[in-house]
Amino acid sequence: MDLIKELEGCRTILLTGHIRPDGDCIGSVMGMYLYLSKVLKDVTIIPMIEKPAPEFGCIKDIDKICSDFEPGIQQFDAFIGLDSSTTDRYGDALKFYESAKKRIIIDHHVSNDGFGDICVIDGEASSTCELLLRFMDEDMLDEEIAKAIYIGIIHDTGVLRFSNVRPATLIACAKLISYGFDYPRIIDETYYEKTRIQNEMLGRALVESILFMNGKCIVSKIDQETMDFYGATPHDLEGIVNQLKNTKGVEVAIFMYELAPQSYKVSLRSAGNVDVSKIAKFYNGGGHVRAAGFSMNGTFHDIVNNLSDSIAMQLEG
Ligand code: AMP
Ligand code: MN
Ligand code: MN
Repeated sequence: MDLIKELEGCRTILLTGHIRPDGDCIGSVMGMYLYLSKVLKDVTIIPMIEKPAPEFGCIKDIDKICSDFEPGIQQFDAFIGLDSSTTDRYGDALKFYESAKKRIIIDHHVSNDGFGDICVIDGEASSTCELLLRFMDEDMLDEEIAKAIYIGIIHDTGVLRFSNVRPATLIACAKLISYGFDYPRIIDETYYEKTRIQNEMLGRALVESILFMNGKCIVSKIDQETMDFYGATPHDLEGIVNQLKNTKGVEVAIFMYELAPQSYKVSLRSAGNVDVSKIAKFYNGGGHVRAAGFSMNGTFHDIVNNLSDSIAMQLEG
């Protein structure tokens, strides 16, 4: 795809990602925003996602994000959807997808079936940010664009340690860090540093976790009461599922938190023998082979029972 050619004649462009934006979503929306703002003149470009967590404050122009979903434009010439595998996950930006004259979808989720006029979906890419580099003219990159894209790759690869890292990922990172931003500081500040509340939630989730299926699965949950007691938000629970998965012998880790009474956001992580994207898709979610998620109504026990059947089928089948 020649992105700039595809955007020819567009006067208004909306850039968006998914609800509860993670590092890849924020990095890809902002990396693309900074790039297009530089390349396209006299075009209104709006980055639109929920307000990013404070640790992403190091990204240039992050305050330009339209988080109230009221850009004062009803219909955009182009809608660019990044890092979202379904239209459901656009949240309040969905109406702009529906009304847009042209829809461009760029994503790396294997579960993405493609729902735009132009779709670039590569399940092999580590992150949407890694994919974006394919559409960017190297001569137009700069330190700030490189930093935003680097953050996305770092976050979706667990600091270049997950199996989605390919030689191309490292080549991309090598190129990006050559722009000279302080990458060790960025990794610490946006990825590793945790607030006291985040550490308390992680501690609770680990202590209260349960092993089942002969230690092949681990599950833990945080309910609303606990979140209220600590003053925690869903963002404070990110990363817990990865820590659960680090338990020796575990094939699948499940972490869930209560969205509303009897309604949970479920995160799945696999060591590789179980394709959790298949399971998540079955429950109307999505993701990757080793990392996927969905939302589901029911009690904690209902959800665990359903999931153990799905996991057992794959482990035994
Ligand atoms: P999470 O467990 O929220 O960290 O998500 C793991 C992966 O699954 C990410 O790549 C998400 O984009 C994807 N994912 C999580 N929840 C959903 C959902 N409800 N629908 C589609 N994809 C999801
Ligand atoms: Mn994401
Ligand atoms: Mn991603």
